[in-house]
Order: sequence, then C-alpha cells, then structure tokens
Amino acid sequence: MSFSSQTKEELLRTPFDRECCLLSEVAALTQTSGSLGFLGGGHFSVTYQVEHAGTARRLFRMLKEGMKLSPKLHVVEHRRLGVRRTCVLTVEEEDAWKLLESLDMMKTEENGNRVLKHTHPHPQLNKQCCRKAYLRGCFLGAGSMTSPEKNYQMEWITQNESQAQALEKVLEKSDIHPSKKKRRDRTVLYLKSAQSIVDVLAMMGASQAVMDMENVRITRQIRGNVNRAANCDLHNTEKSMNASENQIRAINRIVESKGMDSLSPVLQELARIRLENPHLSLEELGPLLNPPVGKSGVNHRMRRIMAIAQSL
Ligand SMILES: [Zn+2]
Repeated sequence: MSFSSQTKEELLRTPFDRECCLLSEVAALTQTSGSLGFLGGGHFSVTYQVEHAGTARRLFRMLKEGMKLSPKLHVVEHRRLGVRRTCVLTVEEEDAWKLLESLDMMKTEENGNRVLKHTHPHPQLNKQCCRKAYLRGCFLGAGSMTSPEKNYQMEWITQNESQAQALEKVLEKSDIHPSKKKRRDRTVLYLKSAQSIVDVLAMMGASQAVMDMENVRITRQIRGNVNRAANCDLHNTEKSMNASENQIRAINRIVESKGMDSLSPVLQELARIRLENPHLSLEELGPLLNPPVGKSGVNHRMRRIMAIAQSL
C-alpha cells in the first residue's frame, strides 16, 4: 500500500465524536468532493463523488450516524483507462436542506422560505479541534502525498480558487505555508518541506504516519552523512595516491642519478618503505620504520627526499 493510502487508512480510523468537528470534516469533504444539484421546484440535492472507497464509507457514516440523514451510496464504474470505481453518495429532499443548513449554505427565513446563502460551505474554523478535522477532510477528499523515501511532497488538488484559499488560510493559521500552482483548471496546493508535512500529519491525527516519516527522515539523514563521509574518504585517498606517486617518482630519480646509497640511512629506509608500499599514506609509513616515527617526523624526512630530487 502506498504511503498516501496508508495515511488515509489511518485517518479513517479517527472517531467522529464531536459535533463541531464532524461538521468541519463534512464541510471539507463537501468542498473537495461535493456538488449541489438544482432539481427544480425549489428542490436540491447534494452529490458527493469519492474515489477512495474508505472515505466514501466514512462520509456515509458521518452523514447517517452523526447527522441522522439518509444518504444513498452507489458505485459507478468507469471503463475509460482500465476500470476505475467512483463512489457516489446522494443526499436528497428534506435531508439535503438539513445538510445545507448545517453547513451554513442555506437558511430558512422567518416566513418559512428557504434561501441559498452560499454555493460552497464556509465552515467556521475558530477552534483548533475543528481545523484539525477540516484538514483531515481535505486530505481524505483531495490530498495525497509521495512516499517520503522518494521525495517530500504533500498536495491537495482543489476544485476552485475559493476552496484553495480556505485551505491555505487554515494551514497558515498553523504557520504552514503551502505553495500554489495551476494544473489544468485546478489549483494545487503543495508542501515540500518535511517539517511542514510532519506538522500536517500530526494535526490530522495520523500519528503512525508521523512516526514512519520521522524514521525515513532519520535514515535519509544518516545515509546523507555516510555518503558525505565516503566522498570525503575517496577525496583523501585520491590526494594521498597523487602524493605517493610524486614521492615514488622523486625517489626513482635519485636512485637513477646518484644511487640509493647517496641518501642518509634514515632517508634510505623511508625511501625503500615508500617504494614497497605505494598505497599507504605518508602517515601510515611511520609505524613501519625502525624505530617507528610519528607523522611530522615522516613528513620532515620525505620533504628532505623531495628537496634532494628537486635539486637534481
Ligand atoms: Zn471541533
């Protein structure tokens, strides 16, 4: 299962026990997946099209158990591009009125007339608990995220600009600043910062996803450090190999022109050990000398050999 689906499965297990939060989540799903139908004669219907079956079932239960409505649920199959299933939930007649009134899209005037106030829900999200529920609904209805092992990206494909703004406002209240781009006629909000994504997951209540993501972050960080260290090692090896080649060339020049015996016994010893161990760094040659010599001692002797070669 993808990280995105796993996160959704986790969100689906969140109980909907507070009425204020239930309404906020339903409002989010109405924004992302709902549409208003005008049936004539002042009748309305609200239809939800949801691709994620688990989300459709949750919405069904929220409307039925939480709001005491009688939604109808059926599945439509699209044969285009393989078989894709969309769950369609419909709320009609009296129930549609009740739903729209709860979402503050409709009001009943004193004379009993019912008037449409807004074509989209405008949920009051003054409380933190409701903003969390709203984010959950937005993610279930329009959100997805890339597996953090590949890339840090969370996005919401919104239906229209006003929905994008509503979601943006809620995120910004928690100091999360999404970027925006157009994809065909849709506005896409997205996050690329690992910290912001973790914050949103935590706000929505996806604590398992938060832990999984933190684990991936740590692994990625360690891997990054190891790579950096390995690169650094390689760089140093390369440097010492070049140095070793230069030293061997210098020693050979001395041997060819004046003979090894022209060097003092300590320099001869180092020169011989250098020729025998071309792959060791200068520092590593020190312990092979008799008696062993420290790093600066070896350096000093090698500098003298190099100077002699240079003078030839
Ligand atoms: Zn609430």
